[in-house]
Amino acid sequence: MSGPDSPVYAGVDIGGTTTQVVLCDAELKVLDRADTATPARSGGRAMIAAVLDALAVVRARTPGRLAAVGVGAAGVVDSASGHILVASDSFTDWAGFPVTAALRAALGVPVFLDNDVNAFLRGEIACGAATGEADVLGMTLGTGVGGALWTGGELRAGAHGAAGEIGHIPGFGDLPCTCGGRGHLETLASARSLRARYGERTGRELTAREVAEAAREGDADAHAVYAAAGAGVARAITMTAGLVDIDTVVIGGGVSGSWTLLEPLIQGPLAAEPPISGHPVKLLRATLGADAVPLGAAARARHEPAAGEGGPGPAR
Ligand SMILES: [Zn+2]
Repeated sequence: MSGPDSPVYAGVDIGGTTTQVVLCDAELKVLDRADTATPARSGGRAMIAAVLDALAVVRARTPGRLAAVGVGAAGVVDSASGHILVASDSFTDWAGFPVTAALRAALGVPVFLDNDVNAFLRGEIACGAATGEADVLGMTLGTGVGGALWTGGELRAGAHGAAGEIGHIPGFGDLPCTCGGRGHLETLASARSLRARYGERTGRELTAREVAEAAREGDADAHAVYAAAGAGVARAITMTAGLVDIDTVVIGGGVSGSWTLLEPLIQGPLAAEPPISGHPVKLLRATLGADAVPLGAAARARHEPAAGEGGPGPAR
């Protein structure tokens, strides 16, 4: 039970269509939640106002002293300054927006910002499928393919916050990618790509989930499309294991909903090209669902409240 003085943490997921706010205790147990439409076309101030409104709703219902806030947001973010660096074109006046400064000014508590895939991985390691693991690749197979890297028990952000972005390096065929590149894993393994690849083979327009159902019912084209996705994911895992010796992979996103189809299509190629370490990589399906991003953001806020008081803390 949390009392009026017990510390509570807010985790926020600002997505392209929905903003989700979760209030949790110091053990990351969810106490309350609220979600609201993201006013993505109305600019950063409106999006922060939507976060504050949803947070006010849960705080009014749930006792506890708000100790810190963590935010996961789509796009490229500067975790140290708390700014959005690059946003997709579905957002207006969002790139460059000082997210943590705006929330800190309104709430008077430390606020931390992460890319949403980094927050997803923090969540799955804090209290999900990969709890306690030290060397993990996180992948989200959703509308696009996201990646995040955790090594030696810490998030590895890299020089530009883009470490682990396995969805957008070449070597996975020659198809054009949404990012402007070619041959990226995203052209094989995102929901959008699964439906596009199936459409090219058959002329039929199915969702990624419907393609998975067709594959299970013996549709050879549908199976081939998922097999190419699985082989691509396996290749990405093998490359990452060779570079930074991860021993665990956690996969989330909508496409992972077809896990019973997808898992053997990843495991097969993975076994055929084992990591040079000689140790097989453990393949896990994410377990937190839509809570992974807000709980991961809250986990970071819980982890380093003191650092946020005087400015940006170390990126972990
Ligand atoms: Zn790409």
